[in-house]
Amino acid sequence: MEITDISATNVSTESWGEFVEFPLVTVMSGYDEYNNAAGDNPQARRKWMGPVGDVVVEIETDAGITGVGHGNWATGAIKTIVDETLSKLVVGRDPTERERLWDIMYRATIPFGRKGAAIEAISAVDLALWDIAGKAADKPVYELLGGPVSDEIPCYASNLHPVDLETLEREAIEYVENGFDAVKLRFQYGPEAGRAGMRKNEAVVETVRDAVGHDIAIAGDAYMGWSVRYAKKMCKRLEKFDLAWVEEPVIPDNIDGYAEIRDATDVPISGGEHEFTRWGHEELLERGAVDILQPDVHRCGGLTELLRIDALASAHNVPVIPHSGTNPHLHFIAASTNAPMAEYFPIPQWYQDQQDEKDSTYADAIYANPPDATDGVLELPDGVGLSSQLNHSALESYAVDDQ
Ligand SMILES: [Mg+2]
Repeated sequence: MEITDISATNVSTESWGEFVEFPLVTVMSGYDEYNNAAGDNPQARRKWMGPVGDVVVEIETDAGITGVGHGNWATGAIKTIVDETLSKLVVGRDPTERERLWDIMYRATIPFGRKGAAIEAISAVDLALWDIAGKAADKPVYELLGGPVSDEIPCYASNLHPVDLETLEREAIEYVENGFDAVKLRFQYGPEAGRAGMRKNEAVVETVRDAVGHDIAIAGDAYMGWSVRYAKKMCKRLEKFDLAWVEEPVIPDNIDGYAEIRDATDVPISGGEHEFTRWGHEELLERGAVDILQPDVHRCGGLTELLRIDALASAHNVPVIPHSGTNPHLHFIAASTNAPMAEYFPIPQWYQDQQDEKDSTYADAIYANPPDATDGVLELPDGVGLSSQLNHSALESYAVDDQ
């Protein structure tokens, strides 16, 4: 088999312009213009993150099989790297030579790569190659990986934005009633909000714990918005709520800070969502930074690299709970004995009620058969390859020109 063509298409949802951001702490909260903790700056996230979109990479072969991978965040940069660099390295090659191609792409992009957009571009290409492998074998990728290791995938309800405590309570109860036994909330405040912010963060966790009872796992995400000192204090205050983990308390490059926070608290600390490659994740593991590792297959180097990261993590007795619940993550979890659950984003009833009509996004339109959790579990992903069925007319209608 030979790769005959590769293309990258950027897609976005125009309606994002009216999207209202929830009040929560982020890595940018220390800057007033990017802080929406009080809910009075609803476009804050858009100001630094830009419009949300995906880049869809399609690899065509002379066997008539097309593989699909996708990436997000720096979509313009990813498309440029695919078009201008990676295409030259993969067109004309055998798509089943994933190890060789990964290494070639990695080495060729070292001058501007190693972390960031270049590895995200490699990730999307690698996922398309795995998709081709599954389609060529007429099997789901989790079977190529030696799975499934179980017949369903447990997942946690990842939402619980701190709108107000009453809404939060209702939403938490809804998830438990819908069969989830694990939930994740977002913290609202960081160091800039002082002691009052700490008290309010604590109130959010207390509200959710009181709502769900003691048998439900609760995690909390700080999206890199805390300092080490703040995280140590905050985690101490939260110990009584028996949290499953606190996620990304500080920026990912502060690896010693992660270890210091872990030493100071009984609360498990997770991270890795913004880390790249086996070498980056090995640092986190070796230096005792995390209790739970959360690589993202679209960022860390694709499925080829995620398998290596999972092997390293399992050797350190650190479970892998990947960031986000996209289909490639579900295939990975279905084939790993070290990946206990998936992230899943239910749309809470209160949010559905306030929408005039259901938001239609490029993701709904482009990817056929998005997974749907029942009783807190997902079925094994459908179809062959990475379950990547594309709706081409939707892809075109959401395509962003001139990137
Ligand atoms: Mg996160």
